[in-house]
Amino acid sequence: MSERVHESVACVYCGCLCDDLRVTVRDNRIVRVERACALGASKLMNYRTDRLKRPLVRRGGRLVETGVDEAIDRAASVLSEAKYPLLYGWSSTSNEAIAAGLELAEEVGGVYDNTATVCHGPTILADHDIGHSSSTLGEIKNRADLVVYWGCNPAEAHPRHAARYTVMARGFFRPSRKDRTLIVVDVRETATARMADRFIRVDPGSDFEVLTALRVLSMQGELEGPDEVGGVPVGELEEMAEMMIGCEFGAILFGLGLTMSRGTYRNIDAALSLVRDLNRRTKFVIMPMRGHFNVTGANTVSTWETGYPYAVDFSLGYPQYNPGDTSAVDILARGCNDATLVVAADPVSSFPAPAVRHMLRKPLVVIDPHRSPTTMAADVVIPSALVGIEAGGTAYRMDVVPLPLKKLVDPPEGVLSDEEILRRILGRAKERRRKG
Ligand code: SF4
Repeated sequence: MSERVHESVACVYCGCLCDDLRVTVRDNRIVRVERACALGASKLMNYRTDRLKRPLVRRGGRLVETGVDEAIDRAASVLSEAKYPLLYGWSSTSNEAIAAGLELAEEVGGVYDNTATVCHGPTILADHDIGHSSSTLGEIKNRADLVVYWGCNPAEAHPRHAARYTVMARGFFRPSRKDRTLIVVDVRETATARMADRFIRVDPGSDFEVLTALRVLSMQGELEGPDEVGGVPVGELEEMAEMMIGCEFGAILFGLGLTMSRGTYRNIDAALSLVRDLNRRTKFVIMPMRGHFNVTGANTVSTWETGYPYAVDFSLGYPQYNPGDTSAVDILARGCNDATLVVAADPVSSFPAPAVRHMLRKPLVVIDPHRSPTTMAADVVIPSALVGIEAGGTAYRMDVVPLPLKKLVDPPEGVLSDEEILRRILGRAKERRRKG
């Protein structure tokens, strides 16, 4: 019997990428996970559930087992023969696999898009317009005396965020909870709101108006007209503006409640502008709460390689970027692409029905460790090693800090990493092009 305890393991569940886990492996099985929250522990302890172990290809309408070489050949031929393939997913794999995927997208003249397109895409668009004042999570932990969670519920979606990086963390200059104030802004009283010193309830779809009112107040303007904005009494907004101006280091952390509600990127424009205004009076930063553990990497690696963070179209031989036109849901809903590769994502469960209907009418290749509605609908399925558990690599935390991912156990026999699979498909696609 062999047993090994791995220290400083990064949790590959959410964008917090907590890298302080202790994981005990006995005879190539994870038997104990320490320091993770329930979500992270559950992923690490149950990673074998619904596991794919053999490549599958569709023959006569049924998925049947095949060898890895045949699956890779089929994937390469689907992507090489397509005129406008879509390569989608990328937020739950390593930076190294994402880099290989971008090279493949360029080789086959396709479109690279990642899951940011349906979560923090509006954040990126607003960032192009306004820019943002940011920091690492470590600076927030050590310095922030005012934390605002806006349109997010980390108590349930990022359970260790507050304990590791904000109000519950022991910071260098803020050693205890009483050294910090927590404001939560949301449309309903969430578990995070119940931890707050101040909960501001806004009417659904009114974040833009509330943020704009706070901009006026933070610049010592006056609000004329009704005595409430977006369901929030003006007196409460005045107090919140005073608290923001009066802090030494403030941080706004926002989620999909802001990006995916009425106003979308205009809400983020207003939030980034508010932080820019506040920096004339004090120190303030703003950061999106990223969901998948490496969605930040999916944007960052794409930006190094192409200049653009998502929705990158290589069909003319060079990268073009026009979200709303070159983004995955729009391409699928218009019925433009003639093949799809999905890596570490499940768009059949999350995309709108017209987009899914088109995806399923055309050849679909999926690389994923797990069975999902997307793998079950595919024409070629290639199982991959779970990054951060069965394969190493690197990933970016939500504050764009890169961290190493460890290999803890061996994958099932014959199962390759995402990077290796993508490099092999790329090699075959290049060979096909050379042969004409
Ligand atoms: Fe994992 Fe996120 Fe929980 Fe940290 S907060 S242990 S990264 S699921």
